[in-house]
Amino acid sequence: MIKLKNNDLKNEEKKLKLQKEENDRILLFTEIIISVSVTILFLLLIFFSIFTKQSNSLKIVAVFLGTVIFLIGIGTCILIEQKAGYYQCYYCKTKYIPTYKQVLLAPHIGRTRYLKCYKCQKRSWHKKVIN
Ligand SMILES: [Zn+2]
Repeated sequence: MIKLKNNDLKNEEKKLKLQKEENDRILLFTEIIISVSVTILFLLLIFFSIFTKQSNSLKIVAVFLGTVIFLIGIGTCILIEQKAGYYQCYYCKTKYIPTYKQVLLAPHIGRTRYLKCYKCQKRSWHKKVIN
């Protein structure tokens, strides 16, 4: 009876883990959609303000609006990237979730970020992993 309950618990844990992985994949895909959208919108508004024959105040509003939307969008993307999945240390292979500030300030190439591992204290390029 106890063994049966243990198996149920293990199956439930496995199910939850798979569900989290699926959710993380969806979130990371959403991040791409958001980042591409806000970048295109930002560039469109910048080009609009450069090439339009409208008044200067309208151009300023377009640049301001583009910048605000871009910053909010990218901020959201960084939040998604921080929350979804884990970062894996290059040296000790520890998987962890860094703080928002650490992710925001870390140099990055794609989703690989230059972070300091909380466990081995070494700085290296940490890869984003889902599981
Ligand atoms: Zn480490």
